[in-house]
Amino acid sequence: MRSVAGQAAAPAAGVGLDSARVRQALVQRLRQQGLRHESVLAALAQVERHRFVDSALVAQAYEDTALPIGWGQTISKPSVVGRMLELLCAGRALPLGRVLEIGTGCGYQAALLARLCREVYSIERIRGLHERARDHLRPLRIANLHLILGDGCGGYPSGAPYAGIIAAAGGAELPAAWLEQLEVGGRLVAPAEVRPGEQRLVVVERTARGWQRHEFESVHFVPLQSGVV
Ligand code: SAH
Repeated sequence: MRSVAGQAAAPAAGVGLDSARVRQALVQRLRQQGLRHESVLAALAQVERHRFVDSALVAQAYEDTALPIGWGQTISKPSVVGRMLELLCAGRALPLGRVLEIGTGCGYQAALLARLCREVYSIERIRGLHERARDHLRPLRIANLHLILGDGCGGYPSGAPYAGIIAAAGGAELPAAWLEQLEVGGRLVAPAEVRPGEQRLVVVERTARGWQRHEFESVHFVPLQSGVV
């Protein structure tokens, strides 16, 4: 683990004890890289990322790096998570209303969203990950977070319309259901293939007159897949 303020790095077993300080150092680095949204930075400083990764990877939990979470999936690096949350929240009153996350994964981003939104619905298609996320999140007792096992390609109609939809997996096209389930004034943030082999962060805003789409930087997310396994 990287040392903090010139002191010796704590061993992996000590991360839990020392983690607030190590998280602050990560937040400081993200700030230097240009992440400016104070509520997003505060959430990143509070949620303990080391709780969401395999015990063998705990020492890397506060590096700005993607990590494997099993079943061939990865937890995005904190700078990318922060960037997506910033795109979701920028210029809007917080907390946001109801928000849908596609791809619970290990549950880390869902815990962050719960600090920024009134109600979070998070859907995951891999049963093993859905159950693992539930185990990670149970001790945190987050009352406004609902985990769903299902295929998020159809969104999650029961919670619609949403103030925000955020996807952690990308396909060639944005599913029509996501656009339909946004409320007017709502915002979607997702990776999408804008040209063959080129995936970018895409933001879609729903206005009274339709949908406005904006493309941002290149990213590399796991593929959006259909069906529950
Ligand atoms: N936000 C997660 C990132 C997980 S990676 C975290 O903080 O850990 C992306 C996740 O999207 C994977 O778990 C993958 O299984 C899931 N996924 C891919 N396609 C999906 C779909 N159609 N519906 C729901 N989840 C999906």
